[in-house]
Amino acid sequence: MARRLQLQLLTWDVKDTLLRLRQPMGEEYATKAQAHGLKVEATALEQAFWQAYRAQSLSFPNYGLSHGLTSRQWWLDVVLQTFHRAGVQDAQAVAPIADQLYKDFSNPCTWQVLQGAEATLRECRKRGLRLAVVSNFDRRLEGILVGLGLREHFEFVLTSEAAGWPKPDPRIFREALRLAQVEPAVAAHVGDSYPLDYKGARAIGMHSFLVAGPEPLDPGIKDSIPQEHILPSLPHLLPALDRLEGSPLQL
Ligand SMILES: [Mg+2]
Repeated sequence: MARRLQLQLLTWDVKDTLLRLRQPMGEEYATKAQAHGLKVEATALEQAFWQAYRAQSLSFPNYGLSHGLTSRQWWLDVVLQTFHRAGVQDAQAVAPIADQLYKDFSNPCTWQVLQGAEATLRECRKRGLRLAVVSNFDRRLEGILVGLGLREHFEFVLTSEAAGWPKPDPRIFREALRLAQVEPAVAAHVGDSYPLDYKGARAIGMHSFLVAGPEPLDPGIKDSIPQEHILPSLPHLLPALDRLEGSPLQL
């Protein structure tokens, strides 16, 4: 009789898989700006934020660590550039807002645990699975997970800042497997990004599941993934694990 797959490790993306921001980025920025006497439209800040974030990520990948930046400096620059792009040229006026935003995003109150996340993590542990985090995030993540009561579910929290490489770089997934001392064939990753999570983990031989957000999945992505790898919501993970573990082990 063929041996059945028994998963040992489940690694997790965090943002928009287990947690999301309570408010859109633009609103968060606009509220803090207003508290410092600066009135800027949330929609302008939202658009400017994503432009600044993309530009900063391209120029200085993974928080600019290899360029000598700290993740804090990296984020303060993103805020300065965001306001600059939204029409605020006075960097001195923006500096205390940037400081405040950096603190606020490390505050668990800024984040919200997604529906079904806590129960799913609990059920996974009951099945005997070991859990860990693999996230493109900075050093603030550990404290956020502690504050939201999720940290206890994970053996370790591996951020891209700590690993030195962001997903989908295979090295961050390999580092997670090394820390857990498990083979890729008995590990699976859960996340909401097709290129970073779903494909990144598969590239090193792990299994993976794609958590679909509230928006419809891009048809090109939907058609390229087996239906059983797509989770319309987190509670769909448990039956998906049953199906996966019902399949023969491939080493
Ligand atoms: Mg994510």
